[in-house]
Amino acid sequence: MTNTKGSIQIIKSEIFAIHTEIICGVSTRNGGYSPEPYNLNMSTNVNDDQANVILNRKRYFGELNISLNQLAIPGQIHSDVVNRVTKPGTYDACDALLTNIPNIFLVVTIADCLPIFLYDPQTKSVAAVHVGWRGSESRILDKTINQMNASFGTKTNDLIVFIGPAAGLCCYEVGNEVADRFEEGYLQRYFGNKPHLDIKAFNRDLLIRAGVNNRNIEVSKFCTICNPRLFHSYRRDGKYSGRMMGTIGIRPKES
Ligand SMILES: [Zn+2]
Repeated sequence: MTNTKGSIQIIKSEIFAIHTEIICGVSTRNGGYSPEPYNLNMSTNVNDDQANVILNRKRYFGELNISLNQLAIPGQIHSDVVNRVTKPGTYDACDALLTNIPNIFLVVTIADCLPIFLYDPQTKSVAAVHVGWRGSESRILDKTINQMNASFGTKTNDLIVFIGPAAGLCCYEVGNEVADRFEEGYLQRYFGNKPHLDIKAFNRDLLIRAGVNNRNIEVSKFCTICNPRLFHSYRRDGKYSGRMMGTIGIRPKES
């Protein structure tokens, strides 16, 4: 059962560091039980051995002291559907989850799309959002914030947000039919044959326009596509790409 398993690497945010009740991380491709190219693959929907995927999940979440029965996992269909959850489990047909219940760890599965994590330290509520270009265009982040306002009384300017590793402007090519949906300021048309989209900046600016304080937003510098040693990338590897999982949840301090 041992093959590629080396030391595990997890991407942590700096912005949640002082909030020790928040557990947040994004897996990389390193430290898994699966043979290459899957290594630390989290998805059962790719051509990887299912038993290895379970071992990979146990290892990654175990590193964060999370057990698999504490996870809430969205189906992710590139929708703008936000789901409030009160217990762990699988939630089909949505791309964002939110909760104010401790010890439920919200999951985003990614390989180039953005994993975005929100925390309101006043109401002790969290959200995890899966955002590709469709979710950007449909502004699923706005809908998530509105839902936090309505469900928990979150004030938008209290929110702290981590935008995790994802396709960067350096590599994220889109067709003209996609580029035309975004303002010119988020496009770079001179990097290659196709326009490049700065999907991280687009979503950061959505947050700022919604009322999130810029200093409460951290944007990961990592591009998944051009860091093959660290990240799975569907754009880069196609059907040979594994998936990462990011998670956020609240662990009450022990008294
Ligand atoms: Zn890149």
